[in-house]
Amino acid sequence: MSYVVAGGGLGGLAVAHYLAKLPTTRKILILEASSRMGGWVQTSTMNDGVYFEHGPRTVRPVGPAGHNTLNLIQELGLDQDVLPISRPHPIITKRLIYADGTLCELPSNLTSALRTLPPFKRPIATCLWNDIRAPAKICEDDTLFEFVSRRLGADIAQNLIDPMTRGICAGDARQISAAAFVAGPLFRMEQESGGIVKHLLKNSFFQEKSVLEESEESDLVQRAKSEKWGVWSLKGGLETFTQKWSQVLEKQGVEIRRDSKISDLRSNKKGEELQVIMENDEVFECDHLFLTIPAFVSSRLFDKLDPNLSNILNNIPFVDVGVVNLEFEGRVTDIEAFGFLVPSNQPVRILGTTFDTCAFPQGNKTIFTVMMGGKWFQELFGENPSPDSLGEIALSELRHIMNIQEQPNRVMVKIHRKCIAQYIVGHKQQVQLARERVRSHGYPLSLVGSSYDGAGVNDVIMSGKQQVLAVFE
Ligand SMILES: Cc1cc2nc3c(=O)[nH]c(=O)nc-3n(C[C@H](O)[C@H](O)[C@H](O)COP(=O)(O)OP(=O)(O)OC[C@H]3O[C@@H](n4cnc5c(N)ncnc54)[C@H](O)[C@@H]3O)c2cc1C
Repeated sequence: MSYVVAGGGLGGLAVAHYLAKLPTTRKILILEASSRMGGWVQTSTMNDGVYFEHGPRTVRPVGPAGHNTLNLIQELGLDQDVLPISRPHPIITKRLIYADGTLCELPSNLTSALRTLPPFKRPIATCLWNDIRAPAKICEDDTLFEFVSRRLGADIAQNLIDPMTRGICAGDARQISAAAFVAGPLFRMEQESGGIVKHLLKNSFFQEKSVLEESEESDLVQRAKSEKWGVWSLKGGLETFTQKWSQVLEKQGVEIRRDSKISDLRSNKKGEELQVIMENDEVFECDHLFLTIPAFVSSRLFDKLDPNLSNILNNIPFVDVGVVNLEFEGRVTDIEAFGFLVPSNQPVRILGTTFDTCAFPQGNKTIFTVMMGGKWFQELFGENPSPDSLGEIALSELRHIMNIQEQPNRVMVKIHRKCIAQYIVGHKQQVQLARERVRSHGYPLSLVGSSYDGAGVNDVIMSGKQQVLAVFE
């Protein structure tokens, strides 16, 4: 069988990787529009060895998807390059929220959860009492904000879930789906048992382990478990991963074409055969096509072929994010933490900041990454802000919040257009609808990646694996 994989981000690499393992695979071709592989995994390395992450910076090692990625890292021979961070490192235990002019530490253990800590108005543990008393709302989906307000209280929704949503997907918890986003398991607990606490009590004695979790445990997964890793990255940044992965795939015979933008799809009348049309009019045929490009790009490819599918895919919105890396000489703050997030009700023009060198030191430098915009990008910065203007805003907010007086050595600004899919209420149904339409029309293609099955590095790799397996079910 011959396969075309559209897109060379994590999703495309994952698809090629799992296809290459199948005995029936004859040919795999990855078509990547840009000149580099990796998609949003982007690391810039300077002449003096300092590096900045412009996309993902840390990966979580837990759960089946986290273990799957660690297995992969070992398989690629990158285990010696892993930089793990374990408890009680402050980047795991210390998470900050900037509210009412102060950096507030989130409770990280039972003792702190029993105290009233700003910006919360009650001890955070009392939200469990709220959950026990609150009636359930049986529904297919709800906004994350409504769901958490109902179950755990408005205080938690505003001061914890709202900033976390901005940190994870640069989105608005008042629009994001409770069923599709990271709170999905909690939402299902309400639907199945009427509440989170009730569900945990009912099921605590009958915990089933995931089959995947039990079956695949590389040495690296065992190390992560025994050393209690909280997050990990790689020496030289996460692009080490996608670069190495591309090299290994090419060695295995996968053909990678960079600077190769797909501009259209054609099919025979029955839709069973697809032709992939390139911007330079070249045409590729294959037995199956994996679309790992963003949903709004796939939507354009279906404009003529299937306007209905095109509309469904176009219903998944995306947001722009400004990513500003700031490098200072020496240590410019005593605060050791993962970073801080800003709730949407604060008069601050940034979403949050990660303290990169607190996690992964780089000589005598302090490096921060400021995230900006997301759902609020146009409203705050207009359609076309200059990178310099975003850099200045990021620096001035950081000076104000962290009281930093020093001048940065370097400021690097990237404006990532339409970089994060927003899983708004009804997302799961939209994805189901799109996949159902593909199936019912017999299109030989699969929809893969961060537009559909989860926004994190682990989710995207898992999406690639599962969609490859689904073709052969
Ligand atoms: C700023 C930022 C920070 C993040 N931080 C984290 C983090 O800390 N931890 C974490 O787990 N996750 C993080 N993520 C999420 C994670 O990086 C992404 O979900 C993941 O990289 C997306 O991979 P993908 O393959 O689905 O999509 P993409 O990376 O978008 O890859 C799609 C590829 O398709 C190509 N393409 C597009 N159109 C065409 C076309 N017409 N023809 C051919 N090719 C095309 C693109 O050039 C691109 O290379 C972050 C994301 C961003 C943007």
